[in-house]
Amino acid sequence: MTGSGWDFDVAVVGGGPGGSSAATALARRGRRVVLFERDRFPRFHIGESQLPWCNEVLRALGAEQAVRAAGFVPKWGASFRRPGGDDEQYADFSAAVETPTPQTFQVLRERFDEVLLRHAQASGVDVRERHRLVDAAFDGAGVTLRYADAGGVERGARAGAVVDASGRSAFLVKRYGRHEYDPLLRNVALHAHYEGVPRAQGRRAGDIRMFTRTDMGWLWFIPVSESAMSVGAVIPVATHRREGKASAEQSLAHYLADTPTAGALLERARRVSEVRVDADYSYVASRMAGDRWVAVGDAAAFLDPIFSTGVLLAMQGGLDAAEAIDAGLRRGALPARAFARYERLVRRRYHHFRRFATGFYDPAFRDLWFSPRKTSGIYRAIVSVLAGNWRPSLATRLRIAAFFALVQLRRVERRLRGMQDG
Ligand SMILES: Cc1cc2nc3c(=O)[nH]c(=O)nc-3n(C[C@H](O)[C@H](O)[C@H](O)COP(=O)(O)OP(=O)(O)OC[C@H]3O[C@@H](n4cnc5c(N)ncnc54)[C@H](O)[C@@H]3O)c2cc1C
Repeated sequence: MTGSGWDFDVAVVGGGPGGSSAATALARRGRRVVLFERDRFPRFHIGESQLPWCNEVLRALGAEQAVRAAGFVPKWGASFRRPGGDDEQYADFSAAVETPTPQTFQVLRERFDEVLLRHAQASGVDVRERHRLVDAAFDGAGVTLRYADAGGVERGARAGAVVDASGRSAFLVKRYGRHEYDPLLRNVALHAHYEGVPRAQGRRAGDIRMFTRTDMGWLWFIPVSESAMSVGAVIPVATHRREGKASAEQSLAHYLADTPTAGALLERARRVSEVRVDADYSYVASRMAGDRWVAVGDAAAFLDPIFSTGVLLAMQGGLDAAEAIDAGLRRGALPARAFARYERLVRRRYHHFRRFATGFYDPAFRDLWFSPRKTSGIYRAIVSVLAGNWRPSLATRLRIAAFFALVQLRRVERRLRGMQDG
């Protein structure tokens, strides 16, 4: 669209999985795309456990081979343990219905994000690392961008549209709206990498292991390389207010020691990274698009990490946003309403998974999840959602509905028995 006087058809802000996916998908459709990333890659990012449904997105981006060649840890499922430690529930992705490729990966995000960014570059995206978007001024004919280059010098460019893939900083979303925090998902996450943590053997060596706590918090163990294990504690804000220690290191050590089933795994372990803290991370944007702009990934919404949905939602959102922008460019018009369908889709997908995420913090849901009495049809449907199935068939939706009906029954049963939680 050089006739329009733009330097680029689309400018993408942020080189995480959401931004790379949107940029690659647009470039593969023949669009001229620039991507501004304020950091130099590789850079640390949390979000290490992936879902099988990411494979479909990687395939659509032509990035499957590049990711497979990167040597990430194969992941086949997720195991959950109760505070007592005895009963394990295993979500085996090979049992998931409607999931063509059940194996996925645990990744060091600095490497994973870099592979995706280089793939975007190879697909024709003009990738500019250490370039920070400073301003975007919208008018009837395009967007004037101001960005600071690697030397800190401010420069300008014109584009037809902007993708806000700036993660939780949500460059445009926060200018035109806000993140609305979820009152049911108020948790704090403390995490670090360790070496010397024993692993399961064989096919399950790369799985994520989760250990639940009586306060409804939980710990994750994610093998991110041959030697390193990512360990995180997700703790209800109320517990953290009561029990949090003076430093992040002390708090994490306290929660690990206080979860005996998991603490035992760390007896001979050595922490090899700093302890990082994340809070206030479950929200939905009040608006996800406007004239000539659209938000993807964490900029648009983020759901508690319990089922590792973040990267999948970001990448799938990137693909969908690319389709909506490409259609708008073809029509020659990109008003906010051109993104209404995209926004509905992102919200629907988010709420589909949110039902499970909030469920996990509900004792009745946990009871049933750990119950050995589930019928295999329901189990396979639930595991398929945990594998990332965001568009279940009618049969799967009916099984999910049956599961939630059983949760409701369990809730009534618990109330009648006067149980509180656990
Ligand atoms: C505690 C915790 C655990 C998690 N665990 C998992 C997990 O196991 N699995 C999973 O799938 N997800 C997990 N997530 C979520 C996952 O980290 C995110 O959903 C994912 O990174 C979102 O990708 P994104 O591309 O939207 O944003 P990001 O990956 O955050 O990328 C945004 C990029 O934008 C850049 N940027 C920001 N502002 C500007 C600017 N002005 N100019 C230029 N560049 C800019 C940033 O430098 C950054 O690189 C977890 C999240 C948390 C908080």
